[in-house]
Amino acid sequence: MTENAADTVSKTPVTLLGLGAMGTALADAWLAAGYLLTVWNRTAARAEPLAARGAAVASTAAAAVAANRLVVVCLLDDASVEEALADADLTGKDVVNLVTGTPGEARARAAWAAGRGARYLDGGIMAVPPMIGVPAAGPYVFYSGSRALFEDHREVLAAPAGTDYVGEDAGLAALHDVALLSAMYGMFAGVAHAFALVRSESVAPGGFAPLLTSWLTAMTGSVAATAAQLEAGDYTRGVVSNLAMQVAGVPTFLRTAEEQGVSPELLTPYFALMQRRLAEDGRNGGEDLTGVIDLLRR
Ligand code: NDP
Repeated sequence: MTENAADTVSKTPVTLLGLGAMGTALADAWLAAGYLLTVWNRTAARAEPLAARGAAVASTAAAAVAANRLVVVCLLDDASVEEALADADLTGKDVVNLVTGTPGEARARAAWAAGRGARYLDGGIMAVPPMIGVPAAGPYVFYSGSRALFEDHREVLAAPAGTDYVGEDAGLAALHDVALLSAMYGMFAGVAHAFALVRSESVAPGGFAPLLTSWLTAMTGSVAATAAQLEAGDYTRGVVSNLAMQVAGVPTFLRTAEEQGVSPELLTPYFALMQRRLAEDGRNGGEDLTGVIDLLRR
């Protein structure tokens, strides 16, 4: 037996359901790391390149599940998990669900798995497919649910991407995942507005881009400051630019957008919350923007 073959035998074999862009990247990483892999995909042709590289291909999802204890699911959405696993026997299986979903869906899926005799771990992938299997690119996955499952399979789970276990509550991985992505979309909204403004004149986007990048990078210091204020329950701690001053500046942003013929629609919801926080209690003027977070709770 060669050294590589001996290595493969000692590693936990993996079943992977779903060979879309992300599933294929995961499969490539496990094969490259020497894991024995069984794959299934609804459209069978997508498994062919992996079969050529040594993956076993199951003809049904139920057969793929039967092949190994560890079953990783990377299908499109929660409904496709329900559909694909309808006939599978999950008794004694360790199900790791990497499908992006809500915390509620993850909790419901955990209860569903427990009812079918499986341990369950939910995952939120913080990477795009080209980052998978490339540690230098910084890919990682939030995991939540069965700690025992996570500990038992920590090594195999770490082959395609880093791991960050965030708690026994199965919904926590999705919560972390969606929170980070939500912040990203807020940033994208600001970037879109900024480019719309400069494009209203003859400012070259390529020349503006490095300015925008360095400004956004400098502003990330506010994240830790906000966390410290939330934890202290004191939104006046270490305030650099207070709410009253920032609200006073709002008309300038709106007038600039109007002068330049740019819609303010990406900014106005946030400005409205700032103004409401200031109006609700005259004492809030000395606060940071942190009070806006309280207004978002329903
Ligand atoms: P793709 O659209 O590339 O692939 C979707 C996969 O789901 C395919 O294997 C498809 O099978 C399968 N599928 C869809 N519906 C069904 C169904 N009803 N029954 C069985 N199989 C079904 O998606 P990705 O691979 O990119 O994403 C997979 C998961 O990973 C998603 O939840 C996504 O949110 C998450 N993710 C993706 C990232 C990305 O950048 N791509 C980043 C982070 C998370 P078929 O080939 O037959 O169509």
